[in-house]
Amino acid sequence: MVRKWMIAILYSLILLANSTMASAETEIVQVSNLKTLEEVCQHYDELVFEGNQSMDYATFQVELGYRIPGSEASAKLINSFSENATGYEVSTPSHYVDGMNATNLIAKYSPESSTGEVVIIAAHYDSRDRAERDENPDLRDNPIDGANDGASGVGVLFELLPIIPNMNLSHDVWLILFDAEDQGVTPSMLGSKAWAANLTQEEIDTISAFILLDMVGDVDFNFRKEMLSTPILWDTMLNISTALGFVEGELDCLGEQGTDVYNLNKVPVWIQDDHVSATNVGIPAIDIIDVNYGDETILGGYFHTTNDTLDKISAESLGKAGKIVELGLRSGSWIDYQPSFIEIVNSTTNSTEEEIIESRMFSAFEKIVITSQIILIIGIVVSIRIIKSIELASRPRTK
Ligand SMILES: [Zn+2]
Repeated sequence: MVRKWMIAILYSLILLANSTMASAETEIVQVSNLKTLEEVCQHYDELVFEGNQSMDYATFQVELGYRIPGSEASAKLINSFSENATGYEVSTPSHYVDGMNATNLIAKYSPESSTGEVVIIAAHYDSRDRAERDENPDLRDNPIDGANDGASGVGVLFELLPIIPNMNLSHDVWLILFDAEDQGVTPSMLGSKAWAANLTQEEIDTISAFILLDMVGDVDFNFRKEMLSTPILWDTMLNISTALGFVEGELDCLGEQGTDVYNLNKVPVWIQDDHVSATNVGIPAIDIIDVNYGDETILGGYFHTTNDTLDKISAESLGKAGKIVELGLRSGSWIDYQPSFIEIVNSTTNSTEEEIIESRMFSAFEKIVITSQIILIIGIVVSIRIIKSIELASRPRTK
C-alpha cells in the first residue's frame, strides 16, 4: 500500500516538473516602458523654455483684471491665447453651468507624422471670485488677482505655445485652458468637468497623459506627490525632476547636486483639481501643484487671499515648471510610460536587451523550482528503498 502511494506522488511530481519546463518556452513578461534617467538626459541640451517670458504672460493676465467666467478680461485672455496659437487648431466651447457661462479653450497641435496619441497640458485660467481665506474679513468677498492660482499655469502654457511645434514630436499635444475651476463657495472644476463629459471614448483612448499645472509660480516653488494623480506618472516625474536637478540628494544630467523642488520627503496630499475630471473618465493624469504658498501650511499662506499677487511669484519658478513639461515632452516621458506585457517565445529570439534580461530572470527562478523538485524526487526514491529494506528486515524469516 505504502509503495503505491509513493509511486503516485512520484508520478505527479514528474508531471509537474515537465509542465514547468514546457511553459518555460513561452512566457508573458512585464516590460517597463518608463524612460530611464539617461534617456531623459539625452534631451537636456534641447531645452529652450524661458521663465522670464512666462512671467510676462502671467503679468499680462493679472493686468487684464479678474478673470471671472463671462468677464471681458476672460474674453481678452482667450483671444490673446488663440492669436498666439499658430499651427494649432483652436476651439472655444462654452457650457452654461451653475449660472455661469464657462468657456474652455482647446488648442490642438498635430504634427504631420503623428501616431495619433495625445498628451494634454492644462491649467485653469479663471481667477477666484472671492478671497474667503483673507485675514481681513472686509476683503473676503473681494475677487483675487490669482497671480499664482490661475495666471502661473497659463503663463507656462503661453510660453509652450510656440515651442511645441518646433519639438519634432511624433504625437499630438493639446493645450487646454479651463474656465470655472475656482468659482463659488467650493471650487468645483466646472470647466474641466464639462470638457470631460463631452469626450468620446475614442478620444479618451488616444490620450496618454494629462499634465495639470496649478499654483506653480510661488517664489519658493516646490511640490510633492498628489495622490489623486495616476501613480505611475509620479515615477516619470521623478526621472524628469532628477534630470533637471530638482531632486535633493540626486545628481542631475550635468552631474550637479539637485535642489529641493520635487520633494520626496513631504507627506503626500489629496487635492481635488481639474485632473480629477480626467482620471474620472479613465485618462491618466498628474497634478503639479505647490500647496505651500508663502508658508509651510497646506493650502494656507496666500492661497485664496487678496495676497495672491504678482510679487509672490517668480520667473525662476515658472521656468522650472515649464522645463519639467518641456523635458517630459522632448524625451517622450508622457507617452508609452505604462508597463506592457509581451510574450517571450525563448530568449534567443530577436528580443530587446531589456526583454532578454527579464526572461533570464524568470528562467533563473524556474531553475530553482526544477532543481528543488529533482532533489525531492531523489529523496523520495531513497526513502522508498529504506522503507523496503526495513520491511524486508522485519519480515518473519522462514526456512
Ligand atoms: Zn484656487
